[in-house]
Amino acid sequence: MAAAPLATLVLAGTAESRAVIELLKSDAAFSLTASLAGATPDPIALPVPTRTGGFGGVDGLVTYAREQGVGLLIDATHPFARQISHNAHEAAARLGIPCLRLERQPWAPEEGDDWRSFDSWQDMADAIPAGARVFLAGGTQSIEIFTKREDIHLWARALKVEGRVGPPNTVFINAMPQSEAEERQTFLDNGITLLCCKNSGGAASFAKIAAARSLGLPVWMLKRHPHDMSQGMDQGMCRDGTGDATGKQVANYHIHDTVEAVVAAARQVASQLAGQAIGVAPAT
Ligand code: NAP
Repeated sequence: MAAAPLATLVLAGTAESRAVIELLKSDAAFSLTASLAGATPDPIALPVPTRTGGFGGVDGLVTYAREQGVGLLIDATHPFARQISHNAHEAAARLGIPCLRLERQPWAPEEGDDWRSFDSWQDMADAIPAGARVFLAGGTQSIEIFTKREDIHLWARALKVEGRVGPPNTVFINAMPQSEAEERQTFLDNGITLLCCKNSGGAASFAKIAAARSLGLPVWMLKRHPHDMSQGMDQGMCRDGTGDATGKQVANYHIHDTVEAVVAAARQVASQLAGQAIGVAPAT
């Protein structure tokens, strides 16, 4: 008798989450639901049932997962979306279900790149030389900090800044990341001298970095925080599948840095749980 598909909740909102869903959506071992925060006004539709909006913290996520019979969490949210990742880790531990975290690698400089890393937006904003023409792609929190610098010229791109009025030295651009050619044109049209952004990694928002590279512009990036869940290493957490996910117990928390690795790990978990459910040895 075939085991029931594994009810799997994919915490989404990134290009990588869409890729994971594309690869697993037709796999009979899974019954997928995607979850979006609702931050993007017009998100790209996902090819699986999709819920939208916060769960109400860890408690809300635990309740939702219990009600839906979720047996596997895949956290494919953005590397800087720290709260939801913390919640996913915590909820999975409470539920006793596995959580697979997809955390793409940060971007690395190439020879000739003029990059600087900062621990906080405040440090970055404070270091900008007076008179600089700054393109900021850092989200709401960074905008609040950067607009306090009245001695620079600021182009701040983010979602949900339409109609926003700032100090006279600030232009708000309500837009998603553009193509490399468009990013380059924007930098040239506005005489940008510095790009400020997060070190998000991945392909989806790399065009601005490539554009800055091609123009020889300096790029300042917010560093990632050390992984919030590193404490969990003792509690069945492993990175990139180095732990044992094929034994009787499923380790609770795994971090992988590619879509393919997360998909492979999800299949391994499904196979293991199916093996346990029907009392046969899991596939290795
Ligand atoms: P965050 O600070 O980690 O999350 C704030 C709250 O939003 C969470 O506590 C949770 O609310 C809700 N939430 C976040 N992701 C959710 C999801 N996939 N499904 C349901 N609820 C979710 O995250 P953020 O930085 O605001 O980012 C929000 C979303 O945008 C994330 O899903 C992320 O993948 C995506 N995104 C973020 C960035 C970025 O730079 N931060 C960039 C691109 C895309 P409750 O506690 O009520 O459950």
